[in-house]
Amino acid sequence: MNLIKFIESFPDESSCRIKFKEFRDEQGVICRKCGSKDHYWLKTVEQYQCKQCKTRTSLRSGTVMQASNLPFRHWFIAIYLLTGTKKTFSALELQRQIGHKFYEPIWYMLQKLRMTMGSRDSEYQLDKIVELDEGFFESVDTEKDDDKKSTPKKRGRGSQKQTKVMVMASTVHVFNKIKKYNKPTKFRFV
Ligand SMILES: [Zn+2]
Repeated sequence: MNLIKFIESFPDESSCRIKFKEFRDEQGVICRKCGSKDHYWLKTVEQYQCKQCKTRTSLRSGTVMQASNLPFRHWFIAIYLLTGTKKTFSALELQRQIGHKFYEPIWYMLQKLRMTMGSRDSEYQLDKIVELDEGFFESVDTEKDDDKKSTPKKRGRGSQKQTKVMVMASTVHVFNKIKKYNKPTKFRFV
């Protein structure tokens, strides 16, 4: 999805909330008390209610957004940027772009998303075409500390406190049957 499409699809909080519920309904909600998968949707309070034991589950509960008070749209924007762009960005930059008052919840949101995306990748075994390259990662400073530093750092290859890491990505070449050529590589997992 490109940026224009993203903005058109999710112009406000309500469109994000509706989409998020669609995702949840696809996955299915499991009652944390009795394990039942049958729920009613209570529209007025925006919660699921277990048909067996009446336990209520909020829309965010049991998801990456659990315990966060940030708007759904903030999460959607962060997910869009994390998955749709190649360059990395800091929590401070995201806070500035979103225009959120506090730094901590934005930092926390990014941490959770990066962790979740990392564990998703670890569930898959690399196969098909495996591509290999070097990547540079911050080696000592946590991102949080890094954001608050004012001294500029050299960027890219050979900059301070960066560690070279071998990265392997599983990809597939998509063949265009009509025009009979290989489309650019489709990225799968790292
Ligand atoms: Zn239940």
